[in-house]
Amino acid sequence: MGKQRGLVIAGNWKENMTVEQAGQWLDEFNRLLSDSPLAEVNLRIVLCPSTTALYVVNEHIKRLSPLKDMAEKGLFAIGSQKISPSGQHNRTGEIGPDLLLNVGVQYVIIGHSEQREFMGETDQLIAERMQIACSHGLIPILCVGETADEYDAGETEKVLTRQLEVLRKCTDDQRKTIIIAYEPVWAIGTGRTPTPEDANKTIRFIKDKSSIPVVIYGGSVNDENAADFFSQPDIDGGLPGGASLNPNTFYRIVESASHLL
Ligand code: PEP
Repeated sequence: MGKQRGLVIAGNWKENMTVEQAGQWLDEFNRLLSDSPLAEVNLRIVLCPSTTALYVVNEHIKRLSPLKDMAEKGLFAIGSQKISPSGQHNRTGEIGPDLLLNVGVQYVIIGHSEQREFMGETDQLIAERMQIACSHGLIPILCVGETADEYDAGETEKVLTRQLEVLRKCTDDQRKTIIIAYEPVWAIGTGRTPTPEDANKTIRFIKDKSSIPVVIYGGSVNDENAADFFSQPDIDGGLPGGASLNPNTFYRIVESASHLL
């Protein structure tokens, strides 16, 4: 069947989930996995909790089956929503790569539009974070995407070309592991989405420009539209935000991906 190279589903919890809620989420998700063949398919599930929950999520997973076995096989992993642009332990408020590795983190979201828009994240900082992540063996999930105004002005490809410049220092080996998430800003948290065909076309453009083989789609992905996106030939999975907060909904998204493998 189609997606021989496998799929990636990454849940972005943003600023949500207390330690207690994170534990409950994991218990429920683990229960759902226990009754399904999902633990066996070529599908990487990445959970990106808030920083305060990273440690407890890592510890909790060790006590759960099948989640622990999936984590050992690389089928379930933890992602951070931030990483310091400095490898020198000298930026107050940031988190260095060694601290992330220490709590079992393997992936890191970089360049999310909410950081670009509300926190003044620049392409320069994004490029530095990419280098720190890659040089410490963390897998970046680099988010790119145009705003509504840029979309309306027909500037999507121009904007993506600029945003993809942050990859210029990445080696060929690094490009093999980096994941890009195409997230049109106007689709994030809005319930609006591009058509799956349009998202696929833009993702094809990103792949051609970047030589990154794994590109996923994010922006109002839910359990009803996930299969339509994931069944597109160039879309390698998704980055749901709001829909990842409910373990049942997130499970159904993962399940719809597994049917394509
Ligand atoms: C996101 O958090 O990156 C995201 C795409 O959010 P949502 O799925 O809620 O639109």
